[in-house]
Amino acid sequence: MLSQYISKTPKSKVLFEENKEFMPYGVSSNYRYFDPYPLYLVRGKGSKVWDIDGNEYTDYNLGFGVLEVGHANERIIEVISDTIKDSSIMGFEYYKTGTLAKIICQRYGIDMVRFSSSGTEATMHSIRLARAFTKRKKIIKFEGHYHGSHDQLLVNVNPLKVGGKVPSSSGIPDEVIQNTIIVDWNDIDSFEKVAKEDIAAVIMEPVAMNMGLIPTDKEFMKSVFELSKDKGFLVIFDETKTGGKFYNGAAGYFGVKPDIIILGKAIAGGLPLSVIGGKREIMELIGPGKVAHGGTFNANTLSVNASIVTLRELLTESAFYQLHRLSDMLEIGYRDIAEDLGVELSVSKWGPSGSIYFSEKVPKNYKEFIRMDFSRWFTYFYVMLSKGVIPMGGFNEQWTVSIKHSEEDILKHIEVAEEAIKKAKDTKTNMS
Ligand code: PMP
Repeated sequence: MLSQYISKTPKSKVLFEENKEFMPYGVSSNYRYFDPYPLYLVRGKGSKVWDIDGNEYTDYNLGFGVLEVGHANERIIEVISDTIKDSSIMGFEYYKTGTLAKIICQRYGIDMVRFSSSGTEATMHSIRLARAFTKRKKIIKFEGHYHGSHDQLLVNVNPLKVGGKVPSSSGIPDEVIQNTIIVDWNDIDSFEKVAKEDIAAVIMEPVAMNMGLIPTDKEFMKSVFELSKDKGFLVIFDETKTGGKFYNGAAGYFGVKPDIIILGKAIAGGLPLSVIGGKREIMELIGPGKVAHGGTFNANTLSVNASIVTLRELLTESAFYQLHRLSDMLEIGYRDIAEDLGVELSVSKWGPSGSIYFSEKVPKNYKEFIRMDFSRWFTYFYVMLSKGVIPMGGFNEQWTVSIKHSEEDILKHIEVAEEAIKKAKDTKTNMS
């Protein structure tokens, strides 16, 4: 399996050897590295990408969920080519940013927004805002949920052992995370224990998408909102991923109104743009001499125009119908494979995304997730790569389909997956 990957990607290996001289692990994000060396991509078009060895892949990682409009979408190319003729950064405010703000507020049921460039920046600003509004310090986050790479929330994202509070990077002092409280996802009892009057906010991925794809218990969600009202803390939906999965995001899907919503990834058609949005009385705290929010690249002209086109023309309600339909096909395909091969394989799906687990059932939270043996997943992954399918970005990620994927792409995915899972079935696990 691994040998197939290695024999197909000699140029990636050479580039890795060269790049690691100048970049740790030869990459510019830890999440792009996997053993024995990362894949170096050259270009993409629609549902496909090509690596430096000229291999073609159908891509279901899509920039970790960014490119639901597909690679090199014609409308995005057109709009950014036009825009850049008039400058990419204005420094002062760009006149069309308000148009985008209005589109987002109306679509996602938000009163006011500010823009940043990444999910990390947006969640960082959101907890500052929540603390300023409530005049409290403590933030609850869920184990296994990822909110970007800033210190205060980079805790218990992917601990190797469960129990206790563990920073997910070295270099994070205990003092910095002393006001971050960790709770199990989908576990009302564990949430109730800490949901007190000294909490500023709870931040969550409303559907957990950094542990594969773990569905949300609706009763649990209801309790979180009830307790927040009761105890006076804010609910922050980190919709960096989920915001692009349903037309109105997870808030629309669950029919709830969080105090603050973060958007990112898919909403700007591949350009860097994120949103911190929320209720008017909270958002109005942002301003000079009040709550700080800044960023040189915030709402640059390219991202603003790409996002207007993405939301108005590309990720429309009918586009979501198609995305969900293709994702349904994948889900059914994987379930059939599991049944036909008699493999212990569970499948989860939410909108255009889904994931597979080599276990009897989909985990409920991180404790169940990390208990699994991932050796089968890695066999599956390398077979998929060697047969020209990038099924997802990693064992804790999920597939995403784009408006450029075809039924033919999906059928090929299922065919290759059958072979990959057959091989994975024969992989010796630590548990067998
Ligand atoms: N929040 C969530 C839920 C995410 O999945 C991610 C990235 N995968 C982030 C925040 C961070 O976003 P970015 O990489 O744009 O900083």
